[in-house]
Amino acid sequence: MNLTELTITQAHQGLLKRKFSALELTKSFLDRIKERNKKIFAFLTVCEDFALSQAKKIDDLLLQKRELPILAGIPCLIKDNILVKDIRCTAGSKILSNYTAPYDATVVKLLKSQGAVILGKANLDEFAIGSSGEHSAFGKTLNPHDFTRVPGGSSSGSAAAVADNLCVFALGSDTGGSIRLPASFCGIVGFKPTYGAVSRFGLIAMASSLDQIGALSKNVEDAKIVFEAISGKDELDSTSVESKISNFKFQISNLRIGIPKEYFIKGVDPAVKKIILEAIKKFEQMGAKIKEISLPHTKYALATYYIIMPSELSANLARYDGIKYGKSEIQNLHPPKFSKKTLAGKKSKIKDLLDVYLKTRGKGFGDEVRRRIMLGTYALSRGFYEAYYLKAQKVRTLIREDFNQAFRKVDVILTPTCPTLPFKIGEKIKDPLSMYLSDIFMIAVNLAGLPAISIPIGKCKNLPVGLQIIGKGLQDYKIFEVAQTFEKIAHE
Ligand code: GLN
Repeated sequence: MNLTELTITQAHQGLLKRKFSALELTKSFLDRIKERNKKIFAFLTVCEDFALSQAKKIDDLLLQKRELPILAGIPCLIKDNILVKDIRCTAGSKILSNYTAPYDATVVKLLKSQGAVILGKANLDEFAIGSSGEHSAFGKTLNPHDFTRVPGGSSSGSAAAVADNLCVFALGSDTGGSIRLPASFCGIVGFKPTYGAVSRFGLIAMASSLDQIGALSKNVEDAKIVFEAISGKDELDSTSVESKISNFKFQISNLRIGIPKEYFIKGVDPAVKKIILEAIKKFEQMGAKIKEISLPHTKYALATYYIIMPSELSANLARYDGIKYGKSEIQNLHPPKFSKKTLAGKKSKIKDLLDVYLKTRGKGFGDEVRRRIMLGTYALSRGFYEAYYLKAQKVRTLIREDFNQAFRKVDVILTPTCPTLPFKIGEKIKDPLSMYLSDIFMIAVNLAGLPAISIPIGKCKNLPVGLQIIGKGLQDYKIFEVAQTFEKIAHE
């Protein structure tokens, strides 16, 4: 048995039946990470000692024949924008390269309380900004299906690690598709919960009205198990809510599936379209009712997102000023009387506090982060706020209303996760607009705060294609039921 290929349920059963110990399970992942991470670079930090000591604790509990939660002893990976106490947390940025987390994020606390074994921290696009995994300050992650292609971003390391059997499951964050896109490109499952269903306390904020933490996993059942473990109201995140636990039992013959015509347009790779339409046909043959629907404001989603996201991002990233966190140029600032010449007689490099801010940020942030900050500060500046941010918020309401209307007629909405197959490394990095277009089918979901999952549905030229299932707000559990049914049908 290859231990690194197991799902959560299989690994849990194996531990209970003493087929292997938690230590053996963890060690097999650590060995594989040693062998594979040099190539695909999914991990930024491997916490070997920490992982082994966590596993040892679980083995002790197993010896005492204690009942254990399903995640006990299960090796996992945490995206490096989520805090794990006493472990370095970089957000993929140079500016935080020396930052150690002083506390656990709520999701991490919950995973630890269930006994999950944290193997390390996952590579990501800097501050979760990006769609390809090429924007990490520490180096890019490769797609395990094809090393010349991107794994998708920004949860690039989380997705590549699950696909390459370097962990059983991983946590990622999704502000505009960052869980679903890499899941689709790496041929695994990625679930973005309803906005607020999972606490974001301890997540390094990107765009606060859009950010959500969720799971990347080998199958839908695992995504559901992780969601159950990390979701719920948290007094440390005032936006958090309780997702309804419904036991949505349905018959495929009663299921109404909406196909939005705006998502099957020119620009979708015909190979991707073919696979998605074939899957939809299969569901129809099983009795599901397929209805064409319209989400008329879809065409404004990208523009709306690219005003709201950079605006909130520029405000959130203002805290990295070289004073409060991480890297700083302050050591080059000289006391006023020495400000012209240093003691060594050289010219001082940093003049004043403003210079500390500017030089720290100039050196610490990568190009794409700076591009977004410029967009955001421009949109929020005096005289433009009403024209951009306020207008975008109004359009956002219209986008949300489109979904409300649609969900009066259908139970779930199906779309391709991404219009293209995983693209080549370097193909889009110099063309931000074409990179941004990769997210086109996912961002409306974030703007409307809805739950959505990407499941692998087939392959084209040996590259995975993801199907996106979008549900009504707070009906996260309904999505799992539907996705599990589709997962079964797709593999029949
Ligand atoms: N790719 C999108 C962006 O660059 C989404 C990022 C995310 O979801 N974190 O903004």
